[in-house]
Amino acid sequence: MGGQPLFILSEDSQRTQGRDAQSSNIMAGKAVAEAVRTTLGPRGMDKMLVGSGGDVVITNDGATILDEMDIEHPAAQMIVEVAESQEDEVGDGTTTAAVIAGNLLAEAEDLLEQDVHATTIVEGYHEAARIALEAVEEQVLDVDVDDDLLEQVAASSMTGKGTGGLTPERLAETVVEAIRHVETDDDVERENVAVHTQVGASSSATELVPGIVLDEEPAHDEMPSEVEDADIAVLDVELGVRTGEVDAEYSIDSIDQLNAALDAEEQELRGYAETIADSGVDVLFTTDDVDDRVASFLAKEGILTFEDLGNTDARKIASATGARRVGALDDLAEDDFGHADRIRTERFGDDELAFVEGGAAAEAVTVFVRGGTDHVVDELERAIEDALHVVATALDSGEVVPGAGATEIGIADKVRSEAAGIEGRKQLAVNAFADALDVVPRTLAANTGQDPIDALVDLRADHESGGRAGLVTDGEEVTIGDPVEYGVVDPADVKREAVESATEAATMIVRIDDVIAAE
Ligand code: ADP
Ligand code: MG
Repeated sequence: MGGQPLFILSEDSQRTQGRDAQSSNIMAGKAVAEAVRTTLGPRGMDKMLVGSGGDVVITNDGATILDEMDIEHPAAQMIVEVAESQEDEVGDGTTTAAVIAGNLLAEAEDLLEQDVHATTIVEGYHEAARIALEAVEEQVLDVDVDDDLLEQVAASSMTGKGTGGLTPERLAETVVEAIRHVETDDDVERENVAVHTQVGASSSATELVPGIVLDEEPAHDEMPSEVEDADIAVLDVELGVRTGEVDAEYSIDSIDQLNAALDAEEQELRGYAETIADSGVDVLFTTDDVDDRVASFLAKEGILTFEDLGNTDARKIASATGARRVGALDDLAEDDFGHADRIRTERFGDDELAFVEGGAAAEAVTVFVRGGTDHVVDELERAIEDALHVVATALDSGEVVPGAGATEIGIADKVRSEAAGIEGRKQLAVNAFADALDVVPRTLAANTGQDPIDALVDLRADHESGGRAGLVTDGEEVTIGDPVEYGVVDPADVKREAVESATEAATMIVRIDDVIAAE
């Protein structure tokens, strides 16, 4: 084949190799981490993300920011996935994980420049991550995971989030109460806590509803707006004139015949309402239509009825009240009924909501989130979702560690001291890993207007003399102090997950030295 070039790729594909490939991937990864850096911690700033359709999201939540940013670069996308997996696994620490990953990349870049081989960096990082996980273990506080501690975990996860003027402490109580409600002997049934947002009131009206909240309104205006001690039926039945499968047609020659036909129809509809009333049910939900005339009969009987329910809502009601769904009206019997202490409907501006509270199987609770505007309730909802998740995580494992950067300092210390015993260039990578962890306290300092280097020096000095100081923000004050004394604590799992997911992404990116992109 003398002199003939051999093409194995299509002409349009682009290829970057070696250091160029590494550099551009590292740069992209770093850029993503950089994008969320300023949102970290209690004094973190928010971001306003404007979608192509003009929709606006204002948030402090790392995972949300990265998700909304619509990132395309494949290496950058890996950092986004770090935040995503952090969010999915433990519910918090997304910014922390992304920022650590970004710094692991920055440190790797330096090492590559010093001719440390990528494989050595990867090995060193994995070794360091193993030490880091041990270090997390050592940081776990020897305390009872009681309500006070859980409220601190919740409040720590919410500080810095736009909670609409509402103190994180008040919200933290609500969050812990919700999680305690769904705690069973062996686990926390997180899925039984719902969050429902409703714009209108100030965020201080946010409260815990002992049951479920639905976007539903009664089928008829004259139905009761509140029923106490309610027997509930959930139907998958249409309550209207049967249109029938066959196209029947009949001709009417006289007024009498017409009246007779209408009477028959009326009779049929009234029959439905009577069957329902006779069953003794107080509140009816159906996934199908209810004819206006049936609704009117039911209203006269004082039966609160909701029609056209979504399947999800029907399932929620059934499970929350212990009702069994019924597919045919004739089958409706008392033992299919569910029960609630109270069902009420309430109008909020243009929206009408139904509250199903207490009762036989009242396992579900709903955090009913209020706020002045859509942006406020949305960000509040995200903060509450995170807090619910971290409290469940902390309760599940029973392990919390000091926050405010203290744990990261502690981990970095241990990694550094063990690095001394590691041979060769790998030691450089292990040390670099420790340096990368410093980014958390450094960023907390920078975001509170402190000098990051000074803060780091002070924090390290405290740790060397046996302390566990962090950079605590307490109201207006920023102090180097024991985070535990200030109630700044995070679940240990949040730190573990951050170390693991950041290491995984960074090492994956560093290992790539050839990028082949199809057109
Ligand atoms: P992430 O997305 O990583 O959770 P956050 O913006 O929620 O980012 O910041 C979390 C960090 O802020 C954690 O390290 C936590 O310990 C710390 N933190 C929380 N409350 C305080 C506080 N009052 N003072 C200092 N640090 C705090
Ligand atoms: Mg957080």
